[in-house]
Amino acid sequence: MSRALVLGGGFAGLLAARVLSERFDSVLILERDQLPEGPTGRQGAGQGRFPHVLLGGGQKRLDRWFPRLQERLAERGAQVLDWPGDTSVFHMGGWMPRFESDLKVRACSRPLLEWAVRQDVEALPNVTFRTQVSIGAVDLRAPSVEVDGELVTGELLVDASGRGSKACTWLKEQGFGEAQVDEVNSQAAYATRTVRLPDDLDVDWSCLYVMPQSGTNRRSGLIYPIEDGLQVVNLVAYDGLEPPTDPAAFDAFAEALAVPDVAEALKDAEYLSPILRYKAAYHRFIRFDRMAKWPERFIVLGDALCGVNPVYGQGITIIAQEAEVLERQLASFDARRFQRAVGRTVLVPWLMGVVEDLRWPSSSGPIGPLRRRLITRVVEQVHRAGQRDLTVYRVLAEVMHMTKDAQALLRPSIAWRILRFGGPRRDSAPQASDATAPVGERPAA
Ligand SMILES: Cc1cc2nc3c(=O)[nH]c(=O)nc-3n(C[C@H](O)[C@H](O)[C@H](O)COP(=O)(O)OP(=O)(O)OC[C@H]3O[C@@H](n4cnc5c(N)ncnc54)[C@H](O)[C@@H]3O)c2cc1C
Repeated sequence: MSRALVLGGGFAGLLAARVLSERFDSVLILERDQLPEGPTGRQGAGQGRFPHVLLGGGQKRLDRWFPRLQERLAERGAQVLDWPGDTSVFHMGGWMPRFESDLKVRACSRPLLEWAVRQDVEALPNVTFRTQVSIGAVDLRAPSVEVDGELVTGELLVDASGRGSKACTWLKEQGFGEAQVDEVNSQAAYATRTVRLPDDLDVDWSCLYVMPQSGTNRRSGLIYPIEDGLQVVNLVAYDGLEPPTDPAAFDAFAEALAVPDVAEALKDAEYLSPILRYKAAYHRFIRFDRMAKWPERFIVLGDALCGVNPVYGQGITIIAQEAEVLERQLASFDARRFQRAVGRTVLVPWLMGVVEDLRWPSSSGPIGPLRRRLITRVVEQVHRAGQRDLTVYRVLAEVMHMTKDAQALLRPSIAWRILRFGGPRRDSAPQASDATAPVGERPAA
């Protein structure tokens, strides 16, 4: 009988268990928390109180593993959100184009999404959960774990225990060396509230995102729909700015965004929660892929491997990509090869988030001022081109939602359009392609 042990029952643990259930006779998830019966928050995933947007690439991967997921979410009141079609995005001084796409998700809260996924994992006949466990000694070679004083062994040990993972300590103590930790602190902080927008609010979006404007406005505001006709409002302060702490400051912050749309939408909103704040918005990527020595039957994924600034909503989708790598490699599995492959996979979304954050002067990271300026110019060129040219924006949206490889932006036909349409803004209207939305004008839904 082969058995895989999975430490942690968050998204990484659940998706790893789903994939491993195809190859191992049994999978045992070891979770510290008591897992709630319904879609409610829990202590070990405190971030669930904050909005968890799901990207199109995340939904597509989840749908393949959990064909009943959307039905379950719909039963609980989650509506379909077509990201580019239903979202109004203000970025770089103008509104991004809108178009109908297949980047569709069931927009909901994290507790609902996690619960729905867990229902399907719990239904797998060869997956077992052991909850409220206390983990003692861990042997990466055997591999084995001391669970509530009892030794539990398996053929593979998966660390999916999130940002608090002890993988680095275990590796060092057991003679595998020290892992390189890459960190970028983006100095961004959140203030979040759950609201109900008035039924008669006359807007053509179901999601609204006013992004910060590099150099001029360090605030962003997101209104994201969740189940039961509610929305979460997320106000983010960048570059060391403080997020609001009281209702008056919350409203004032919304009014100070680059455009008044968020504040206007909130004018008659019913506030249903207090203001929640979150501060440590940093990126951390542990380069297990670069380690010279690696245990044969141990792997790390999820936030334990790479946690990105949550502002970009990439976390769950990155985990789904990692689980896909695991799935692809299962037939002839090699832990070290997996760790290297997964390192290459997360590098792209990691860089996408880091590059955005390095545009803020106060963010700290391993990149000097000259390269930052260059990065800023390239990122701005790409986004400006996307704003003016629908062909570029379609590809950019797919790259951001992780349904297309970032190299798609380098294809000659796209790179040429980025050069042509992404130039700095002039006072006169930009050159238009036939698929162009004039900068600053609200595109038709
Ligand atoms: C404020 C905030 C907002 C976010 N917003 C988004 C978003 O909009 N979209 C998005 O995709 N992502 C978002 N994320 C990121 C997302 O939450 C994470 O990427 C994701 O939850 C990581 O999943 P994980 O399973 O790796 O870790 P976790 O979700 O942290 O799960 C780890 C699990 O391991 C358990 N555990 C820990 N230690 C032990 C132990 N010793 N023994 C047993 N069990 C243990 C914990 O109880 C927990 O259940 C956000 C994160 C934060 C902090």
